[in-house]
Amino acid sequence: MNKFLKNIELVCVVVIFKRNQVLTMNIQSEVCIVGGGPAGALLGYILAENGISTVVLERNRFIERQFRGEHIDAQGEQLLKKHGLFETIRSYGMLEMKKVEFFDRKQVVKTILPEKNGHVGIHIPQNHLLRAIFQESTKHDHYQLLMNTTVTELIQDDTGAYVGVKAKRDGEEIKIHSAVIVGADGRFSTIRNDAQIPVKMMNHGYDVLWAKIPAPPEWEPSTRMLMVNRQQLALFTQTGGYIQIGWNIEAGSLSALRKQPIESFIQPLLENFPELTESVRQHLQSWKDFVYLKVESCRCETWVKDGLVLIGDAAHTMTPTGAIGINSAMKDADVLAQVLIDAIAESNTSAMRLKVFENSRREEVERQQKQQIEQEASFWKNYIQFSDTQNEVERYQKECCVT
Ligand SMILES: Cc1cc2nc3c(=O)[nH]c(=O)nc-3n(C[C@H](O)[C@H](O)[C@H](O)COP(=O)(O)OP(=O)(O)OC[C@H]3O[C@@H](n4cnc5c(N)ncnc54)[C@H](O)[C@@H]3O)c2cc1C
Repeated sequence: MNKFLKNIELVCVVVIFKRNQVLTMNIQSEVCIVGGGPAGALLGYILAENGISTVVLERNRFIERQFRGEHIDAQGEQLLKKHGLFETIRSYGMLEMKKVEFFDRKQVVKTILPEKNGHVGIHIPQNHLLRAIFQESTKHDHYQLLMNTTVTELIQDDTGAYVGVKAKRDGEEIKIHSAVIVGADGRFSTIRNDAQIPVKMMNHGYDVLWAKIPAPPEWEPSTRMLMVNRQQLALFTQTGGYIQIGWNIEAGSLSALRKQPIESFIQPLLENFPELTESVRQHLQSWKDFVYLKVESCRCETWVKDGLVLIGDAAHTMTPTGAIGINSAMKDADVLAQVLIDAIAESNTSAMRLKVFENSRREEVERQQKQQIEQEASFWKNYIQFSDTQNEVERYQKECCVT
């Protein structure tokens, strides 16, 4: 069982001085969250709202980020409304998607429309989401957000339970002592590695190139999908008049692709969407205008240890398919918050107590990971009527190691 910091009601900061020189800053809080992405930010907010002293540590100096999961589904929208955050986020800017269209040879072959007056998801830039959540969180005295602070290692007590972290900010060492450490530090989680939690990485046979271009004025807010050389090309309309391009390429093929002129690569995009010619010509001039995402998903052997819990991408990285990652990360935060509130009230933050969270979420997450694989394969199947790809669908399913 973790040593519970029973009498701490406010985040407490102690700075040790020696010969007028700051050596280490010590902070005590009930919960220490490593990572200020959607999972960590939302968890910190809910805990702070419920009177739990909380520190969120984020290694980035600023909130700016691009090419992340930004499409919020109906459940994600409900969550943000439930916690009273939706209107604040809306004030920063969001965009409702009106339809999803599937194209082949410049023709729309399938359209997904919303219920009357509804939408098929909302684009919320992560910058807007995080800014709004941090704005509301920092209204609480017992909440602290430390940006530009990178966690380097975990601290354990003599029973092996996790009781804190060490972090660095501009060369200064910071120690945070907490009843619970939450690893919300994304797909390359330091907390997962340092806690030696075994993780199984899963290949999906494709990677993604992202790019962002201004949308022409008459461009309808929708998601457009098509196949180019038997790979998916998606155009997501974004808040603020942009289009995010997500172009699937065969896994590991980037260096070979980059040997060919960018012109021949973008040609199919121009052929299918001539109305984008001016924007594409101005903004996609070289391979440097694309950002590369190596696509993999992962499963961890466990999400909890004594005094420690993983959430979001740190616990279960998803692929971009269906924009599940961000929604799933926020759902983790919602479920874990109540478990932590109860566990702290009971002074029990053992792995067994925290397992309640993993037991509530793991089944759904693994089902969604499986659905992603099926969707990735069926995307091709949907286009079989236009090209002879059956053999490749089978090859793709074999390459993917999820059963
Ligand atoms: C490049 C990229 C593109 C993506 N594109 C898509 C997409 O198109 N569609 C989709 O659905 N999903 C996408 N995702 C995934 C989606 O963004 C995530 O599922 C979602 O953001 C999960 O939220 P999270 O809070 O768990 O993790 P993250 O959003 O990854 O947040 C983790 C945070 O932890 C911080 N951090 C990491 N290590 C430390 C440390 N040692 N100390 C302090 N802070 C630390 C990071 O700076 C980051 O802010 C993408 C992810 C990446 C990385």
